Parts: sequence; structure tokens; C-alpha cells
Amino acid sequence: MIRKIMSDLEWEAKFGKLGFHIENGKVIVSPEWEQSNIVSFLLPIFIEHKFQVNRNVVTDLVKIFTQIEQQGLDKYIDIKDTELNGGCYCPRFSKANRTKLSRHSWGVPFDLNPTSNQYGTKGAMSPEIIKIFNDNGWCWFGDLEHPDPMHFELAKIVG
Ligand SMILES: [Zn+2]
Repeated sequence: MIRKIMSDLEWEAKFGKLGFHIENGKVIVSPEWEQSNIVSFLLPIFIEHKFQVNRNVVTDLVKIFTQIEQQGLDKYIDIKDTELNGGCYCPRFSKANRTKLSRHSWGVPFDLNPTSNQYGTKGAMSPEIIKIFNDNGWCWFGDLEHPDPMHFELAKIVG
């Protein structure tokens, strides 16, 4: 399976245009857009925190975290850190490009163990967890030119 990070055009074709405006430099998503795209969901492994997730990736994330749990890899997940500082939905600009919307604004990517996998570092992500995301068609951003090792994102399958 060959995965490719989606271009902005492919992203909008799949997840739609984000309904938002900018207020004091912050990305404010329209309540209508949020209501029709974002759901609160309790994922496997996590105990009481419901993540706000784009409805189109709930099935993927349930599958991924179920596999992580079944393979006993949940020991590599910092549950509290991920609940507090990670997850999917976070309307804002990109860390790499401050004029571009972060894809977290759509509630699609998942940030895992953020404290030990900061943007611009090598991080400490379990290769077995990376493999599970990869096998389900998600890219890991830890090996990019500007690494973001906490970040997993639904990819385009090109072969
Ligand atoms: Zn991220």
C-alpha cells in the first residue's frame, strides 16, 4: 500500500470547504459546519475523554485504536497527555505555515503523545503504532522534512 499526503485540493474534495472566519487572528469555525461534521466520540483505550472528531474518520480511528489495544500497544500511549493536548479537532493555523489552515481545523488528523513527540523533534513514537496507522491508510508525519511525530493523518492511497 502506497500512501501519499493529500494535496489541499484533494483534501477539500474529500472533507469539503471549511466554514470559518478569522477573529483576532483566530480561526473560528461556523457552528453549522461544526454541527454537520464534528462528533464527540469515546475511542478505545481512552477512559472518559470524548474526542471531537470529523464524522468521516470515526470508523478508521475506532479500528486503529482497537488494533493498538488488541496488540497490547496501549502501554505506549500517554492517555492523559493525549486527552489533554492531543486528538483531532482544533481550529487553528498550521504550525509549519502560519497563513495556512491546520488540517486539525477539519477534525481529521490525530495527535498522539504530544509531549514526547513535539513538532520539529525526532520524537519517541512506537514503530508498532506507526505500522498500525500505516496499515489503515494513515500517514505518520515524523519522517517529513519538518517532522511532527505526534501527527497522523488520513492519506491518499496511490497503489
Ligand atoms: Zn497534528
